[in-house]
Amino acid sequence: MTKKKILVVPDPTLRKVSEPVKEVNSEIKNLMDDMLETMYAAPGIGLAAVQIGVLKRVIVIDLSKADEKKTPLFIINPEITFRSKDLISYEEGCLSIPNQFAEVKRPSSCKVNYLDYEGRNNEINADGLLATCIQHEIDHLNGVLFIDHLSKLKKDLILKKTEKQKKEINRVVV
Ligand code: ZN
Repeated sequence: MTKKKILVVPDPTLRKVSEPVKEVNSEIKNLMDDMLETMYAAPGIGLAAVQIGVLKRVIVIDLSKADEKKTPLFIINPEITFRSKDLISYEEGCLSIPNQFAEVKRPSSCKVNYLDYEGRNNEINADGLLATCIQHEIDHLNGVLFIDHLSKLKKDLILKKTEKQKKEINRVVV
């Protein structure tokens, strides 16, 4: 397992659409292992392959708390087959948009078909935080970021703040 560098906005790769995985082989398993290590180190509760620069439809999620047993979820080629009409809002953040948070409304539950770590077909009924997290990560596979769900004003403000943050970091390094 190797910890990878996480891409940050406005990296153009984050806007690309990821390709479906053809076969869950050792290359894909290595990718998932690296993603998990990168996510735990960040720390974060979800990561899409595109965030480490790999344009494949692969997601890792782990909602366990720091003092709990790890419960990683590996999701390959996810397809949302059901979205609830009722919405839920969470204050969302993203490892690719560091230190910025905003409230996003999404369907409160959803059903997702996917392949697991062993390449087996699987289905998950997600609600609450897990539903939000899965939808956030599937957005990544389509080049969509949580700020795209906000007004243009809020989105521009967050992008400006992220840019400023980066400059400040550079200043310290120099
Ligand atoms: Zn994200």
